[in-house]
Amino acid sequence: MGAAVRWTAAFFTVADAVRVGYNRLQNPVAAMFSKRETVRQNNIQTEERYMGMNIVCLDLEGVLVPEIWIAFAKASGIPELTRTTRDEPDYNKLMNWRIGILKEHGLGLKEIQDTISTIDPMPGAKEFLDELRSITQVIIISDTFTQFAGPLMKKLGYPTIFCNSLETAPDGEITGFKMRIENSKLTTVKALQSIGYDTIASGDSHNDMGMIRASKAGFLFKSTEQIKKDNPDIPAYETYGELMAAIRRALAD
Ligand SMILES: [Mg+2]
Repeated sequence: MGAAVRWTAAFFTVADAVRVGYNRLQNPVAAMFSKRETVRQNNIQTEERYMGMNIVCLDLEGVLVPEIWIAFAKASGIPELTRTTRDEPDYNKLMNWRIGILKEHGLGLKEIQDTISTIDPMPGAKEFLDELRSITQVIIISDTFTQFAGPLMKKLGYPTIFCNSLETAPDGEITGFKMRIENSKLTTVKALQSIGYDTIASGDSHNDMGMIRASKAGFLFKSTEQIKKDNPDIPAYETYGELMAAIRRALAD
């Protein structure tokens, strides 16, 4: 019994020694290849991140977060406020109309902000944005207002956003709005192009068509049947996976 244990122990000691010796021989070679592979992967990621001079310009509402005004229409019980840029392409007209309705109902910034605090980004939006921001530069170009966007940007990990601002009275009444620039989405992609960037744009609505058409690649995302029908030449996607794949292809072009 004692001899059997001793022989078994001796066998494993020898087997261990052989294994250690083998690993010593193998490991430097394996380590060399694995180091080379890591460097290669890092280079690919670095190249990918800075591939070309691209900026992806994304719409906010309807693409990354639900429509703020539709959420507010539901919360306030004012169905007229469900009108969005999908229904009224003239944004100034739409905003003035919205402000009139708010005034009529005695509602102001606070009531809208209370609703916004209950809105979450669309499922998968944060993950999509995180992945996109790891491979290229991203700017959210929105016709919304800084007073509305703040809490949503926190939930999206503080991406860069270019938007507008509301004018409010001390009691919180929304008295007007200040658009950063006329036709801001198109103007912004043109400005980015003028400083050497190629833009890739995506949005869901009429007000996105300018930046989509002016970009090296543009995609409709979760758009309406009518907008898709009116723009049959623009690829239209419904999932973040499809949009990510399309943007990756455009980045590689
Ligand atoms: Mg939109």
